[in-house]
Amino acid sequence: MTDLRRDISLLVMIARIEATLYAHKMALQKIPTDIAAIDRSLAALEARDKALKATLEDLTTTRRNTEKKLREHEDHLKKSRGQQSLVKTNEEYTAMLKEISNLEQQISDEEEQLLILMDRIEAAQKDAKTAGEVVTTERAKRTGERAVLEAQQASVKAEVERLTRERPKLLSELSPPVLKRYERLSEKHRDVAVVRVKDDHCGTCGQTLPPQLAVEVRKGDQFIMCPACGRILIHYAD
Ligand SMILES: [Zn+2]
Repeated sequence: MTDLRRDISLLVMIARIEATLYAHKMALQKIPTDIAAIDRSLAALEARDKALKATLEDLTTTRRNTEKKLREHEDHLKKSRGQQSLVKTNEEYTAMLKEISNLEQQISDEEEQLLILMDRIEAAQKDAKTAGEVVTTERAKRTGERAVLEAQQASVKAEVERLTRERPKLLSELSPPVLKRYERLSEKHRDVAVVRVKDDHCGTCGQTLPPQLAVEVRKGDQFIMCPACGRILIHYAD
């Protein structure tokens, strides 16, 4: 194998590593965003569940208070009716009748309120139950999704470490002038210095290559740079 052929085949290996590292870098940026989105949507469901439970609690407290007032008014009415025969003057009698009538009205209103409250409590109980079930199901589902993403993240990180260690070994085997050229490009382009040509396009900047240039890249017997971005172009099958 000539030096040039050897260098090009090393560059192919380096290009594969760089492409993988680039994809991994993107994945490592995306995974935490996906995890945060899962956490946010679960938090929203939990907040809704909490709000529905608080509504139910408020309604229950209102019902307890209304029942208490109703009992007090009923006792009061009973007492007032018992004292009806004891009043002496007409004024006292009229006042007593007015008080009884007021109490009867209050009791009637409170009974009405209690019926409405019971309906609302029943509906609120249903809502709270459904929301609680949704939270339980979704929590299980999303905890699973989160675990998958975290495992993915760990394996991508491990792969990144492995490839990052591998790249310098391959680079050290390149002939010095090619290494120098690679290093210059690498400094300029940071992530990807050697790029695969795919469907006659530069795999990184997307420039369409003149047909003759694409053919030469496929031959793999000379260095060809992308006319647009300047990266080294190479060809390899999947
Ligand atoms: Zn390019």
